[in-house]
Amino acid sequence: MITKCILISAGAIVAIAFGLGIIIGHFAIKKTTNSTTGKYDYLTRNADQQNYQTFISSIQSPNIEANLKDLTSRPHMAGLPEDLASAIVIEQRWINDGLKVTKPKYNVLLSYPDDNNPNRVTLTSSSGTIIIQTNGTEKVYDTTQPKTVNPFLAYTPNGTVSSTKLYYGNYGRLEDLKYLASIVGNTSLQGSIIIMRYGKIFRGDKIMNAQYYGAVGAILYSDPIDYAPFGTSADQVYDQKWYMPPSGTQRGSTRTVNGDPLTPTYPSTDYMYRISEEELNSIPKIPAQAIGYGEAQVILQYIQGNNVTKDWSGALPNVVYRYGGILRDSAEIEVRTYNRQERKDTYNVIGIMKGEIEPDRYIVFGNHRDAWSLGALDPTSGTAVLLEMTRAIGEMYKNGFRPRRSLMFCSWGAEEYGLIGSVEYVEEYVKVLGARIISYLNVDIAVEGNYKLRVNTSPLLFDIIIEASKMVPSAYDHVDQTVYDKWMKVDRNNITNEPNFNYGLGAGSDYFSFVQLVGSSSMDARYTFDSTIHGNPGSYPLYHTSYEVFSMMKKFIDPDFTVKI
Ligand SMILES: [Zn+2]
Repeated sequence: MITKCILISAGAIVAIAFGLGIIIGHFAIKKTTNSTTGKYDYLTRNADQQNYQTFISSIQSPNIEANLKDLTSRPHMAGLPEDLASAIVIEQRWINDGLKVTKPKYNVLLSYPDDNNPNRVTLTSSSGTIIIQTNGTEKVYDTTQPKTVNPFLAYTPNGTVSSTKLYYGNYGRLEDLKYLASIVGNTSLQGSIIIMRYGKIFRGDKIMNAQYYGAVGAILYSDPIDYAPFGTSADQVYDQKWYMPPSGTQRGSTRTVNGDPLTPTYPSTDYMYRISEEELNSIPKIPAQAIGYGEAQVILQYIQGNNVTKDWSGALPNVVYRYGGILRDSAEIEVRTYNRQERKDTYNVIGIMKGEIEPDRYIVFGNHRDAWSLGALDPTSGTAVLLEMTRAIGEMYKNGFRPRRSLMFCSWGAEEYGLIGSVEYVEEYVKVLGARIISYLNVDIAVEGNYKLRVNTSPLLFDIIIEASKMVPSAYDHVDQTVYDKWMKVDRNNITNEPNFNYGLGAGSDYFSFVQLVGSSSMDARYTFDSTIHGNPGSYPLYHTSYEVFSMMKKFIDPDFTVKI
């Protein structure tokens, strides 16, 4: 297990050391020098190459493991006391690392389910007998883990809706529902409930699309074809493998706009004007709930209508996938939710190491802190590495290292609710950040696999990333192999003869406001899995479930895992 653990941590190191390689290698200079002959030489001399090695060799895998273990020992969902406790841990660590630390607070509109009343979906026969009522919770495999929030779809309203019509909307893309409407008739969808599978697009858009087509409620589930590609038997899913078990349910926000809902385009500081909740148009108006595929299986067996085409079919055993209509045996489907919206304080933690030569130019490194559950991958794999980075660079600082430009380390709050902490911060300091940022480097999930590096980036950073990747040893290969070598081996762009990048960044994590509001060059890096083996559902299978725990990371995300399959 020790070997595995080192390799897991090494994956994290590669992803992050690589990011810091950029900072140190190109924007750093030693404080003391006696080899320069004047001010000009001092200001323009090349970076000291030794800084790379000093940084990379000082990253310690056991520290990353200890960080992950500690941070995932308690839930840290945005706006709750445990989230503030995590912020204080980070604040204290960064003070000890020698950073100048602030903890800006924003008061924002968040959404929570009712702990005592889980959201449920109920299928009832015409005689009033309950065919299935969903549990509203996930199966507990490890009773030593603290309880985390029940599955819910943040910002969907509370309420109860029911219908005798149930439709299957595939992935809930606009083209899916358009096609469904063409098959069953536009008016048929009015007043119905639509069940859709996770994948392909943002979950909030699925709900909004269902609402647009006249549904009164929506249900989401993760189909095994994407989330349990080797079957749903107990030996092929969690807790034996890292694939979705029958009760596993992805949580998440459904808002289609980022930042605090009540302060659009301006910061949610105290005394700032708030729009009323009634004015919000970026959140769904229909109740919706996510359920496990074990329960979806029963519900889908009651769907009638024509059989779907092959590309709409999932892999649930004993289910004939149909487009839907009036439920079999005149059954009725109900979605009952108890969500509430609440204004809460959320905190960012910002740690600054002042640059020596160009202090007014910033290299910003960010990772969000809040998680739906214990968040061992999303985002705490990133947080665990961020803390080791600041420890290592803090140590270098104590030994005389000075960055050329100022380094900003950011632990963002309430990212899961729509990138709220980072958007509010950028909105508050948009002018100064816009004028002074050189690059924003984001790590959300640092490690979701151990196969290869995955980088989304602005084109401006292509060359520097390649250069840096040649300096970091690959964690899973022969000692001489670098991250670059591995990347080229498994993910080469044959036209450019370079590793494949994902061009540009979207709105999937905290880089959004840096790219979209201040126009900085940005990158997002993670170590990922081999999608030719594990499928490509758009995320690792257990994403946003309560099974994102330390032991899952330790047990499954190691090099032996791919070999076993
Ligand atoms: Zn995340």
